[in-house]
Amino acid sequence: MTSQSTVRTLLILGASGDLTGRLLLPGLARLAATGRAAGLRLVGAGSDPWTPEQWRERVHESFAAASASAGPEGKEALQSLEKETVYHQLDVTADGALAALLAALDGPTAVYFALPPRISQLACEVLQPEQVPAGTRLVMEKPFGSSEESARSLNQTLVRLVPEDHIHRVDHFLGKATVLNILGLRFANNFLEPVWDRHHVEKVEIIFDEDLALEGRARYYDNAGALRDMIQSHLLQIMALMAIEPPATIGERDLRDAISTVLRASSVPLPHSGSTRRARYTAGAVGGKEVPDYAQEEGVDGGRGTETLAEIRVNIDNWRWKGVPFILRSGKALGVKRKEAVVTFRPVPHLPQGFTGVDAPNQLRIGFGPDTLAFDIDVNGPGNIFSLGRVTLDAELSASELLPYGEVLEGVLAGDPLLSVRGDTAEECWRIVEPVLRAWQQDEVPLEEYDAGSAGPAGWPGSAAGH
Ligand code: NDP
Repeated sequence: MTSQSTVRTLLILGASGDLTGRLLLPGLARLAATGRAAGLRLVGAGSDPWTPEQWRERVHESFAAASASAGPEGKEALQSLEKETVYHQLDVTADGALAALLAALDGPTAVYFALPPRISQLACEVLQPEQVPAGTRLVMEKPFGSSEESARSLNQTLVRLVPEDHIHRVDHFLGKATVLNILGLRFANNFLEPVWDRHHVEKVEIIFDEDLALEGRARYYDNAGALRDMIQSHLLQIMALMAIEPPATIGERDLRDAISTVLRASSVPLPHSGSTRRARYTAGAVGGKEVPDYAQEEGVDGGRGTETLAEIRVNIDNWRWKGVPFILRSGKALGVKRKEAVVTFRPVPHLPQGFTGVDAPNQLRIGFGPDTLAFDIDVNGPGNIFSLGRVTLDAELSASELLPYGEVLEGVLAGDPLLSVRGDTAEECWRIVEPVLRAWQQDEVPLEEYDAGSAGPAGWPGSAAGH
């Protein structure tokens, strides 16, 4: 498959950074190796005084895995990208520096801000609208702002420079395959829609439990915590996809309107001591590997009270979902990796007398990465036909051949903002979690503890005591 991208040049600001080396360049490589970045020019920029060879070497290293598995055409595409790529040293916050670079590039250009968030903001603030060539796309990483107010102010800075549909607020969770699997399941199957509401659904859980601990990311994570890192962005987006009304088209306007509408109806009920929980891991072992107490991890300020496990209950106050709890949870250093959305249905109104054996409700489980689908139902088991048994119907869903950042870049290069977060939605997500962050800061909700490698604090869903 070969396709010409709308974007002619991909400019990565933050060439020496972690995101660029570990995720962006490998994502781009897989995309290019499948012929989906034909005609693209890659430009790196950063504050390091790198020679063009040093940058090319970095690109080469990051392309290695994709190159090894590519066919002859894919290898050629990667070599051509590597050969043509150039590097520019600049301080993006210096007046006129980024403007001069943009003027010198072959447009249309996608500018990927792989920079610390504060630097990205400053770089946009020093740009003037007339310095941004027509057709330029701005690609912003998470976190997008740190509050509703700061997200709004960043939005205002950006829309001064380019139209909203040229701004890509990246959420790499919104990979094309995962999103389309949820939408396909919900809106291409008539049997689901009539039961997808408050009358039939008891609760919806969106869980992202990781077995990974800090993995050297203290500098970022200790200032963020699980609520900001995972729930404020990714899990609220997944929740919205599970809860939206059927859109008329899977186009960026209809889909993003539907997401925005459902988020506007969402909030975390008071008191937060009843609707939220937070915890931090202590020393333990995950998969046989020793994990130190979070507070003792290098680079962590133990007094800051950063949570490594967070859970919030979101209410969606609309006709379809009134009264159905949406429980969003994410944590680190847990014993069991679990990444899924689970819809728990209400029990049948009356089980005919004579049947036995039903002790759990129907559940629909949508797993993320790898994308899977499972449906737990009760049917007559073998032996005594009056004794019902649980059967799980399951399937693996089509996986993307791209890495998550390949999917992000595919949308950016095609000039399609469908899978990026719209400005108003970014503000809504902060509006939903900000009261919780404040309550936690004021210690209205205790910071619990759990051993690394366990299932979380006693009494939490998922922990031994919680079942
Ligand atoms: P790093 O700190 O690793 O890299 C930041 C980059 O910005 C470095 O290349 C740095 O160059 C460059 N830089 C800093 N100041 C300037 C400046 N004034 N002018 C030009 N370049 C500058 O950060 P990450 O790569 O980890 O993160 C980048 C963004 O991606 C952040 O918004 C982060 O939240 C987001 N993100 C990161 C993920 C990850 O796994 N790393 C995952 C998801 C999102 P130098 O060192 O030479 O100053």
